[in-house]
Amino acid sequence: MLWGIFLLALFLPTLYYNNYLKNEILLETQTRAARELSLIKDLMLREKEFEGPGQLHDWLAKVSGPLQVRITYADEGGRIIADSDVPFDQVSGLDNVARRPEITEAYGDSMGSSLRTARVSDSNLLYVAQRIEGRGKIPGGVLRVAIPLSNIFYALRNVAILQRLIILVGFIAFALTSLGLMVSTSRSVSLLSEAAESIGQGNVKALVQFHPDHYFYPLAKSIRENAERVDSYIKTIMEQKSQLESILDGIEEGLLLLDSTGRIDSSNRAARKMFTSVPELKGRRPLEVIRSPELQTACNRVLENEIHSYHSEVTIGADRYYHVHIIRIEQQKDDYGAIIALHDISELKRLEKVRRDFVANASHELRTPLTSIKGYTEVLMSDESDPDVRSSCLEVIFKNTNLIIKIVNDLLQLAKVEDYNTIMDIRPVRPEDGLMEAWKACTPAAAQRGVSLENDLMPEGPLVMADFDQLVQVFRNLLENAVRYSSPGGKVEVFSSVENDRVTIGVSDSGPGIPKHDQQRIFERFFRVERYRGKESGSTGLGLAICRHIVRSHGGAIWVESPRKDMSSGSTFFFTLPASETLQVSPHMS
Ligand code: ADP
Repeated sequence: MLWGIFLLALFLPTLYYNNYLKNEILLETQTRAARELSLIKDLMLREKEFEGPGQLHDWLAKVSGPLQVRITYADEGGRIIADSDVPFDQVSGLDNVARRPEITEAYGDSMGSSLRTARVSDSNLLYVAQRIEGRGKIPGGVLRVAIPLSNIFYALRNVAILQRLIILVGFIAFALTSLGLMVSTSRSVSLLSEAAESIGQGNVKALVQFHPDHYFYPLAKSIRENAERVDSYIKTIMEQKSQLESILDGIEEGLLLLDSTGRIDSSNRAARKMFTSVPELKGRRPLEVIRSPELQTACNRVLENEIHSYHSEVTIGADRYYHVHIIRIEQQKDDYGAIIALHDISELKRLEKVRRDFVANASHELRTPLTSIKGYTEVLMSDESDPDVRSSCLEVIFKNTNLIIKIVNDLLQLAKVEDYNTIMDIRPVRPEDGLMEAWKACTPAAAQRGVSLENDLMPEGPLVMADFDQLVQVFRNLLENAVRYSSPGGKVEVFSSVENDRVTIGVSDSGPGIPKHDQQRIFERFFRVERYRGKESGSTGLGLAICRHIVRSHGGAIWVESPRKDMSSGSTFFFTLPASETLQVSPHMS
């Protein structure tokens, strides 16, 4: 198409120019012929009178030579009398020219002209003719001049050939240039479109570098600049997104973002941790994740703008409790979603239960001795005067009062060790020092029951990192139990071992042991093994709970083995403490 237009654009002016040139040349030739005709006519009229056609013929031949024209003389009837280009003897054989257009015109007293192919020479000639009066023996007639156009036409044809050649060369040059241009343009366009595609996929570096002279340079430059700008916007957005995600992931509350259709659009890490059993939260309805129809209804109502927000508590599974808050949010213009915020209150609930149980247990533990004191006090207040009864009443009241004091003391002790604000004085201490200090307090009871202590603690063993008073407390609780439950005349053995950076201390007794199913529970507050309940006087069920708390706060562990390792009856309480790196005992306040 383009090439067709180009060809037309080249050909049409050439065609027009050729025609114009031809017409101009003809006009010029015609003028020249007319001028030469007038000149010849003039010359002829000035010439002496011709004696006959032969003389005229010679004269015409002489004049035509330098002018390079053919001169014909015809009489009024169109018969040729003389012709410069035809031998005189053949002139009479020439055709009558009376009907030739230029002759007919000349008869009308004007100058006639015509362009034709000559019958004689078969070449293009321009004829001009004019009437002329007779001279001597030559009758009046028409003088005609013929100028050959072959040379001019030949030159014109050459010009046309040259023009065509130029057009062809121009066309080939144009075709080659435009082809090159097309190839380079389409290459550049495909490079640009590939680059644009890569940019679309986020690879800004994929941009093509064009030379500054390249016609696509401004376009490529502006694409590059725009891509870099978009890239920097995207980076900012991504940074903000990841910041937001980190903030959301850092929030301890589980967050579920619902889209306007009520399906989960995104969630934070806490929410994903809450619902690990659900493989993919995205796209699910809240009911599929939290099996609570009330919550689903609340979400629907919030999304439908029936209510703006919703607060409630939901239970997931057996022991997970959440405080739920749903609020409606505008995600985009006129597109509302909702956020479900789940706050895990399971620990709070557990602590609440522990507190309730604790109060109930403590009240129960205190009520028993108090009821007993009340009963015996009533007996004393009655008119009973038997001194034996009075003294046994007072004895019971005294025992129960002591028990109450012990319970209160243990509770205070437990509160103290559980208090995170209590400052522990941890330093390297010798376990034996703690043991001896504790045994002092147990000696009266031990002596009463005939129970002895066997100290097998490693004499050269490492020191332990502990708060001395708390270590004494642990030993004391374990020794008191061991003495209390040992059979009369029994033995309490205390031994130790060391492994890596831990020291393990064991306290063994020859008592009745502890049933397997109670071995975990004896460390709970107020727990007592059922079968000894009646026999235990002064038992509060708090001693081992205190021990466990102290040992754990030192980074150690406590457990019981019953029957003992050697399968003999009784139980062994073990606890571990971190070994000290120094061998030097630090002085402590006791
Ligand atoms: P208590 O003040 O009753 O001793 P503890 O917390 O020290 O409270 O002990 C909890 C319970 O564990 C005891 O009531 C007892 O039933 C059981 N127990 C503790 N030590 C021993 C032991 N050495 N032998 C047998 N039973 C024990």
